[in-house]
Amino acid sequence: MKKRKGSPSAAAEPTLLKSPESDRSSLSYEAVFVVIMIALIFILYWLWICITYRSGLLWIPDSPDQIGSYFARFWDFIKQGAIPSRFAIVVYLGWVVSHAFGQIYLSGKTVKGLPMRGQNGKQLKYTMNGWKAFWLMWIILFGFHQSRILPITVFYDLCGELMTVSFAFSSLLSLWLFLFPNDNSPTTRSISGFWFGRDLNPRFRGFDWKLFCEARPGLPLWAVLNVSTCVKQYETFGSVSSSMLLITFMQFWYVVDYFWNEEAILSTMDIMTDHFGFMLCFGDLAWVPFTYTIQTRFLCSMDSLHEASPLLLAASFIIFVVGFIVFRSSNSQKHNFRMNPSKHQKKGTFIETKSGSRLLISGWWGWVRHANYLGDIMMGWSWSLPTGYSTLLAYFYPIYFTILVLHREYRDNVHCQKKYGDDWTRYCKIVPYRLIPYVY
Ligand code: NDP
Repeated sequence: MKKRKGSPSAAAEPTLLKSPESDRSSLSYEAVFVVIMIALIFILYWLWICITYRSGLLWIPDSPDQIGSYFARFWDFIKQGAIPSRFAIVVYLGWVVSHAFGQIYLSGKTVKGLPMRGQNGKQLKYTMNGWKAFWLMWIILFGFHQSRILPITVFYDLCGELMTVSFAFSSLLSLWLFLFPNDNSPTTRSISGFWFGRDLNPRFRGFDWKLFCEARPGLPLWAVLNVSTCVKQYETFGSVSSSMLLITFMQFWYVVDYFWNEEAILSTMDIMTDHFGFMLCFGDLAWVPFTYTIQTRFLCSMDSLHEASPLLLAASFIIFVVGFIVFRSSNSQKHNFRMNPSKHQKKGTFIETKSGSRLLISGWWGWVRHANYLGDIMMGWSWSLPTGYSTLLAYFYPIYFTILVLHREYRDNVHCQKKYGDDWTRYCKIVPYRLIPYVY
């Protein structure tokens, strides 16, 4: 593969290394996290209001002098549909507890994680039973639905209430982990410490909170909410639109893929680099299921069945398939390389670094530094296209995700520059493109 020599972006990278570490104690630095947290919580509820009460239209005050009444109305909507009933609390806690039981008691392959940073290379053991737990969950839900103990539409009907309980649960869990870290974390008790978290991999009597929250309550809830929305649309309109079916199928596939390749989570930034605080906890438990389902919930909130043109559906599906192939193959390539270094000895496919860890320069990783992000972005857009073009709201996910990934790429670059030093600069010269080959 022909590679461009040198790169303006690689040359600029050392300047990105100016980490916020030096400002960590400053008040303004801490205030940023307060603002981020408030903004995220606001967006979570705002999206839900736009879909539930405004038919997917962007709901903003008409003029500055209406801001007071806007927030009063905002609060009315929350009181109307997002203050949890006892039933919603029981459903959500039952959900979390049953998934926790699944993680603890179901059998599965035991896998050793990668050596942990700053912990003398300690390797944690994980039981990979998510695949089993995921399908067992569907059998149980099917039984509950058929017997009318818990019709699947409950998830759609209680969406606002469940969202509040998941938000409260994730806040309390992150507070608990913040107040009682279990590995003498050097992180101070500060707002940024609450946001980023203090422990890297908090465990309680062997129960791994991070692995659990990364997937168990949030990802299956995303798939269940979509299926619940399909059934709701069927009950309301007498049929399910092709747009709805396609989005549900593509997102379901994404979740199924996670569990099929569950081990791959062990070499990601979430497990290896980021500590477990409000950012990941809230993101995994509340943000993922309740904002990633916007597209299907928007379709269900419409006055009539929305059918996208066959051409648009076909285009969305093709983008999804290509995105998925790029995403899965690049993630698996890096994961296998990290987990089985002895199997990768072919000269010219990797570079040695002073840190002791190698960097791939072949396959996707020799072409672009984050093909896995590119594939994910493509899938994100494919999930919104079938909704048509009537509201920007249905495009919230791909817009948000593209921004998230650009920032993530920046963060990872800072992290790798710190870890690999000159070797990373060398790698960036060999692989100059960050996300899109020959473009960026
Ligand atoms: P990566 O899996 O790409 O992990 C980044 C790490 O990989 C780096 O810190 C480095 O760690 C290692 N690495 C980087 N370059 C190389 C190389 N050339 N050779 C070998 N190792 C390398 O990123 P993420 O963990 O952020 O993402 C994983 C997947 O999850 C992505 O597909 C992403 O799109 C997806 N994701 C999805 C989200 C969603 O909400 N849908 C949210 C976040 C992520 P080291 O060298 O220390 O091993």
